[in-house]
Formats: sequence, structure tokens, C-alpha cells
Amino acid sequence: MVDKLVNSEANNRRIMMVESCFGSSGQPLQVPGRVLVGEGVLTKMCRKKPKTRQFFLFNDILVYGNIIINKKKYNKQHIIPLEAVKLESLNDDEQYRNGWLIKTASKSFAVYAATPIEKSEWMAHINKCIDDLLRKSGKKAVEEHAAVWVPDGEATVCMHCRKSQFTLINRRHHCRKCGAVVCGPCSNKRFLLPNQSSKPLRVCLHCYAELTSVKNNHLLDNAQRDHPDSSGEEDSDDDEVQQGQPETHDLSKFYGDIGEKPAQ
Ligand SMILES: [Zn+2]
Ligand SMILES: [Zn+2]
Repeated sequence: MVDKLVNSEANNRRIMMVESCFGSSGQPLQVPGRVLVGEGVLTKMCRKKPKTRQFFLFNDILVYGNIIINKKKYNKQHIIPLEAVKLESLNDDEQYRNGWLIKTASKSFAVYAATPIEKSEWMAHINKCIDDLLRKSGKKAVEEHAAVWVPDGEATVCMHCRKSQFTLINRRHHCRKCGAVVCGPCSNKRFLLPNQSSKPLRVCLHCYAELTSVKNNHLLDNAQRDHPDSSGEEDSDDDEVQQGQPETHDLSKFYGDIGEKPAQ
């Protein structure tokens, strides 16, 4: 049981280790009652391509970052409160296997494990943590989640007009509502999506029409801003070139047992 690990020396040591690997690029992670449930390398689908990321599952947050030196140094720390997370299993296809979606109100993305066993372990542990949190807080699971972005490579033409071909000059943009890859003219509207930003965000014409339909009329004040901007700068993902990709795969490790067996 995860609860047995609370305040245990092994747990404290592990959390201190994670903290030190992120160094000054990360947040303090030692919080009373927090337990490191598991850790491992997962492949995260990013805007351009899948990238290797180090993930840490705590009983209340999911943390991930770029790997600078395997098991020694990470940066670009992201912290996702588990209370607002929903998982959704993905079916295998020819290219990608053992994947699932991590969905939150502000950001959603796909990750892939190396093996089906690791996938099911990760999903089971994350879901267990979410269930425990919701049970303790009495809160309901969040129902609205940000769209998962369609990777750039999956669209050679605009998914809205189906005509505009993407080139170095005719750049891809992402609709923040549905995640589709669209051309500039098909996404020249902005709409306020408060879960994702305090500023109106790029949406495709289809979503714009839907968002501004009669039922949403009261939101129009915030939304009626045309933006011919095509720089697409704000479209950039959080990722850049990384050094030191791990060459061998280490199995993900889980410290708390979700079944009846005693903790290791
Ligand atoms: Zn278009
Ligand atoms: Zn859209």
C-alpha cells in the first residue's frame, strides 16, 4: 500500500533524489504526505515527433521532464495535479504501441510505454492515485479536457479546408479547441478558453462557429477578435533538441503496490 510509504525513509530519500536531479530547474517536491509511487521513461508525443521523457508518479502529482543525463539530470519540469487527470487507453497501430492519453483541462497528450505490461502498470497506478485523491477530497472527476494535438506529421494539408498544403512558408497551426492541424486562414480567429489561458487562443473556423453559436452567445464579447497573425510563435511546443537520449531501456519502477501484497 502506498500509505505505508508515507514518511518512510526510503520514500523521503527517493523524493530528495528526484529533487536533486531537477536541481534549480524544478520545484521543491518534498511535501508532507507525498509519496513517490513510481518512475520510468515514457515516450511523449510532442508536436513534431515522439520524444523520450522521464516521468515520476507521486500520489498527488505527475511530474515529467527532459532527460539531460539518464538518472542524473533532468530539466524542463512539468507538474500535473492528478486530481484533474483522466486517462484513456489508445489502441496499438503499426507505428505506436502501448499508449494512452493523459488528459487534463489545460493540456492533453499521448504517452507510450515500452511494453504492454509497463503500460498497464502505469495506467493502473495512475488511476489508483486519482481514485484515492478523489475519494479523499470528495471531489468529482474533471469532465472537460483540453484537446490532444494532432502531430504535425499527420497532416500534409489543412484539416479544415482540405486544400491548403503545408510548406516551410505555409505553416501549420493547431486549433486549441479540437487539436486539428489547420492553415492560417482557417484559424484566424481567437476564442477565450479559460482552462488553457487567460488570453483568447487560436481556434479553427469550425470550432469558432460552434463556440459562438447561439448557445454560447454570452461569451462573444471575449471572442470577437480577428487575428491575421500567422507567425505561429505561440504554437511552439515545450520541447527542444535534447542531448543524452538513453540508449537502453530501463523498466519503470513502482514502489507502492496497488494490490494486497505488502510494499517492497
Ligand atoms: Zn485551411
Ligand atoms: Zn477546431
